[in-house]
Amino acid sequence: MQDSQSSQQLSQAIAIASPLPRKSRQARVVWRNNVVTVGGDAPVRVQSMTNTDTVDAVETAIQVRQLAQAGSEMVRITVNTPEAAAAVPYIREQLDRMGEYVPLVGDFHYNGHRLLTDYPDCAQALSKYRINPGNVGKGDKKDKQFGQMIEIAARYDKAVRIGVNWGSLDQEIMADLMDQNSRRERPWETRQVMYEALITSAISSAELARNIGLNPDNIILSCKVSGVQDLISVYRELARRCDYALHLGLTEAGMGTKGTVASTAALSVLLQEGIGDTIRVSLTPQPGEARTQEVVVASEILQALGLRVFVPSVTACPGCGRTTSTTFQELAKKIDDFLRGEMPVWRTQFPGVEAMKVAVMGCIVNGPGESKHADIGISLPGNGEAPAAPVFIDGEKALTLRGEHIAEEFQTLVLEYVQRRYGQKA
Ligand code: SF4
Repeated sequence: MQDSQSSQQLSQAIAIASPLPRKSRQARVVWRNNVVTVGGDAPVRVQSMTNTDTVDAVETAIQVRQLAQAGSEMVRITVNTPEAAAAVPYIREQLDRMGEYVPLVGDFHYNGHRLLTDYPDCAQALSKYRINPGNVGKGDKKDKQFGQMIEIAARYDKAVRIGVNWGSLDQEIMADLMDQNSRRERPWETRQVMYEALITSAISSAELARNIGLNPDNIILSCKVSGVQDLISVYRELARRCDYALHLGLTEAGMGTKGTVASTAALSVLLQEGIGDTIRVSLTPQPGEARTQEVVVASEILQALGLRVFVPSVTACPGCGRTTSTTFQELAKKIDDFLRGEMPVWRTQFPGVEAMKVAVMGCIVNGPGESKHADIGISLPGNGEAPAAPVFIDGEKALTLRGEHIAEEFQTLVLEYVQRRYGQKA
């Protein structure tokens, strides 16, 4: 029995897990020479949204730049009033002056048809419009006002995200589907009707936009909900029913660990199934927390799944009773901060550096082994070990650091490694 089991194991290699390929249309979100493709064979894109008052063009431009520098490939801004619409071209101008060509996405609700009509400079400065079909108007006005926005998008060749949200779901569609459901022999659960309403709203709005003249390749859909299993259910079905590029995000994910974990859980399942072309992590910032945290989390999700690489990764052990000092925690944090801080410059100066792996380990148990797997790694001494920290470079022990300045010396070694390995050859 044992023999047949082991020969079976030897004859069949374990399958390597990887996300399934995606098969959506490809949209283009463009500003000047910066063309961000979304969908098709393009990498899954990271986006984010400002929380500044759009009327304050300088503050908004600064935050847009911070988000872009952190890795956001498109940045959405609220366009909710005439003053905000008037500020948009100035925000664009400020960014262009800084050499920051990240595409801007305008977030419209209720009055987008008027703002885009009355402020053509705003309509042109934006690279993409987010339209919520649940908030474009009621009754007869709904299709007319939606149509006005789509006509402007078609005129300027802008991408449009038809972004449905269960917090502002089209109540006419929901009421109609509830009515139909009540006549079923075995009625669906209310949340299943809600799933159907979200998808119907997105797809019927996309069809309407195409009929009005919007290029189907300029359409991106989203159906955001705040429950993990609800999001998975809705997007699986949405992806099955249409070939538009899809924007993924758990709406109102929440604060801190809760928001991060819930977003990661939901997005990871879908991305692994090949569903989703662009993502946003909607974190509520903790007091004092940078807005860029949502970009960090979104990038980390894609990097952890092996879909993208954005920053060098730091492998660090959790520490245990073998390492009671905080030295190794401090070193791991210091190196992580150092790498992230350098990336905006390194990205152009040292191509390929984002794939570098650094290990910072707490003791001899897994320290040397993990450090050898990294491009450069250090194994700090645990309790009772000699006060020496071997450094491994490209899998070989290169030197041993000792004394009080191990952190600084290791950081210098990392920098030298980056310059040597990724520096442009003359
Ligand atoms: S490498 Fe050492 S310090 Fe780190 S978790 Fe493992 S045993 Fe503990």
